[in-house]
Amino acid sequence: MSYSYEAPVSQALFDRASIVTPGGVNSPVRAFRAVGGTPRFMVSGDGPYLTDADGRDYVDLVCSWGPMILGHSRPEVIEAVQAAVARGTSFGTPGEGEVALAEEIVARVAPVEQVRLVSSGTEATMSAIRLARGFTGRAKIVKFAGCYHGHVDALLAAAGSGVATFGLPDTPGVTGAQAGDTVVLPYNDLEAVRAAFAAHPGEIACVITEASPGNMGVVPPRDGFNAGLKALCAENGALYISDEVMTGFRTSKAGWYGIDGVEPDLMTFGKVMGGGFPAAAFGGRVDVMAHLAPAGPVYQAGTLSGNPVATAAGLAQLRLLDDAAYAKVDAVSAEIRGLVGDALGKEGVAHRVQTAGNMFSVFFTADEVRDYEDAKRQEAFRFTAFFHSMLADGVYLPPSAFESWFVSTAHDDRAVERVAAALPAAARAAAEATETGADA
Ligand SMILES: *Cc1c(COP(=O)(O)O)cnc(C)c1O
Repeated sequence: MSYSYEAPVSQALFDRASIVTPGGVNSPVRAFRAVGGTPRFMVSGDGPYLTDADGRDYVDLVCSWGPMILGHSRPEVIEAVQAAVARGTSFGTPGEGEVALAEEIVARVAPVEQVRLVSSGTEATMSAIRLARGFTGRAKIVKFAGCYHGHVDALLAAAGSGVATFGLPDTPGVTGAQAGDTVVLPYNDLEAVRAAFAAHPGEIACVITEASPGNMGVVPPRDGFNAGLKALCAENGALYISDEVMTGFRTSKAGWYGIDGVEPDLMTFGKVMGGGFPAAAFGGRVDVMAHLAPAGPVYQAGTLSGNPVATAAGLAQLRLLDDAAYAKVDAVSAEIRGLVGDALGKEGVAHRVQTAGNMFSVFFTADEVRDYEDAKRQEAFRFTAFFHSMLADGVYLPPSAFESWFVSTAHDDRAVERVAAALPAAARAAAEATETGADA
């Protein structure tokens, strides 16, 4: 496929980066390998817009993969960060900011009685799994194909996100010992979970699931799926871990829990709660959390955990996320997905816009997508054509057909109009795409 526009400064930066960094990026999906072309090096963000190193601006429908729910450079968040930085950047001691952030999380999400702050979603899920194993004295864990929980060794079996994008079966470097206690099941299949508990009586420490998956594209849980997981865990003495790193504080004030009300034993958070900084958390039942060091024997630690700048950013962002803010994000999401569906429909492109709260993504298939196998059946080559047409017309989409799209409170009428203006050509490009034409 040829691209009708150039990005010479990004290309020069990418060439430099590729010498000193594997693949030229610090996180795989950023590299555009699934869609081809030159990844855009961004230099600034303002509200719903990003500006790249070539001076072009884009309506941002990635929002840093979720965190920027207030848009870029929101003044109140920037001011809180500047005030925190001026007091010093890390003390390696407890500080009030981390207490306030923990209180905010506990106040918003009822099942979270205690919380431990960490620096990434990966650390949160890794620590939650360790805690579940330490608490139950059991080794096995259950996860679902297409769910991504960060790059934790034991959780990289049949994972979504970059692993889905590149179709990696299981990554080299994860040993049989590390992944051997991971039972991978099809998503949305309670019978498979029941069968796993029957096959491994007294051995399963926890079931971990994305509260509503966004890392194989958006594949919401069927009615009763999360409640069924919770019930099966309770019957079998296992913990139910809801990974809300993506959905937490995004889909509602209390994340996905605020939508389905199913009470997990443990939950994990990241993305939105860091306000664009590395802050994440795991928390839940106080009797389980009490097993964590120094209160209990399960070790967990972090030099930069509860960092004062990151917690200031997260707290400032969460305090701005009131009911009106979520109503705004929900409305913008509904508007954009309506426009996308209309444009693809007009061109006769087989597609499904799947939605979970204000998260959504487009699958290029006529059939409902209920699990990872369904997701992989889509015509991803149509996404490639669609993506590049949108990019050329100033709309930045996730560079993969297996990722959620994200919007913010800053996506105003002007930004939505730009998306609307770009869609007809992109839909036409998707309609005209052929599998062989999609190689970059
Ligand atoms: C992004 C994500 C993670 C990993 O978070 P990082 O901060 O990238 O380590 C874990 N779980 C889910 C559901 C995610 O979306």
